[in-house]
Amino acid sequence: MNASGKEIPALGEFGLIKRITRRAIVCPERVVKGIGDDAAVFHPPHDQPMLLTTDLLVEQIHFRREAISGKRLGFKSLAVNLSDIAAMGGAPLDAFVSIAIPADCPLAYIDAVYAGLRELADQFGVNILGGDTTGSKKDLIINIAVTGTVDPDHLLLRDGARPGDLVYVTGFVGDSRAGLQVILEKLELSDTALVKLYDRHCKPLPHIEEGRFLARSTAVTAAIDVSDGVASDLGHIISRSGCGAVLDTRQLPISSELKQFGERFSVNAVDFALNGGEDYVLLCTVKAEMAAGLEAAFLSRFGHSLYKIGAITSSGYLEAVDVTGQRRAISSKGWDHFGKGN
Ligand code: ADP
Ligand code: MG
Repeated sequence: MNASGKEIPALGEFGLIKRITRRAIVCPERVVKGIGDDAAVFHPPHDQPMLLTTDLLVEQIHFRREAISGKRLGFKSLAVNLSDIAAMGGAPLDAFVSIAIPADCPLAYIDAVYAGLRELADQFGVNILGGDTTGSKKDLIINIAVTGTVDPDHLLLRDGARPGDLVYVTGFVGDSRAGLQVILEKLELSDTALVKLYDRHCKPLPHIEEGRFLARSTAVTAAIDVSDGVASDLGHIISRSGCGAVLDTRQLPISSELKQFGERFSVNAVDFALNGGEDYVLLCTVKAEMAAGLEAAFLSRFGHSLYKIGAITSSGYLEAVDVTGQRRAISSKGWDHFGKGN
């Protein structure tokens, strides 16, 4: 054990819990008892169903500790959960944070994880109401569960897409995959474009407001957040909805930073946009006759387009139109943890 690894044992489990759970409550109204008892006690939202989602981040699988600051890791751990709430059209409420800490992890890194987590929690009024803390043989593991609330009349599900609907995303796709490349190839963050791509991977901003906006619209028939990749996540929608889809790869919204990155490092920006994943924008399907109205309303609310990328078909499979205008079936080969080739 190195010197830094002795700080946490010196604090002890309860000293550590006390330290990392400071300033955990930002919205006290609904909380009867937060951290410090056997279970959290809180008032459920009046007359509204609750959402509950959880995500597990494991060192070596989802992140490399040496390549991501504690602050960014904490931010991202919460962001991926908030993105799931966004994809349902919900508003987040409270978070539960469980962490397994290996002996070689410095206290400063754990402090930073909680600082990053609190940065995003504060932004969205999310309380940290509890969790669990334990040791780990080798890898740092973080599990966060987030509760939320949603209006039952304005709930976004994956299974509502119908042939003829149009397919949209709420922001640029592919940047996060380029940010991952920056990490994997240990590229120096030598200019603002690279920093931006890196941050899009490490500090994704969940599209909570966009999700609530889409949920309130009667034009939207299904939605999902882009975690595995556009092709893969649209694949989830069509399999849940029992239909097919065609993606026009020429319409994928690609940032100027990703275009630049593609040219500079000879990578295919369209492939990153289609299959990259971890963008945490929302992908939704929209009734064609209401699409123009929704596009205009989205633009005026958010100051940028809702990007049309394709249409729902009755084929039962996924197709893509490539850069030359050719249409062909594609596999939805986003990031599959148990799939081949990972
Ligand atoms: P128990 O042993 O009854 O499960 P713990 O002693 O593990 O309780 O936890 C004490 C309190 O601290 C509980 O309220 C628990 O939810 C909270 N807690 C423990 N670890 C964390 C953590 N990593 N983040 C937030 N809250 C935590
Ligand atoms: Mg416990």
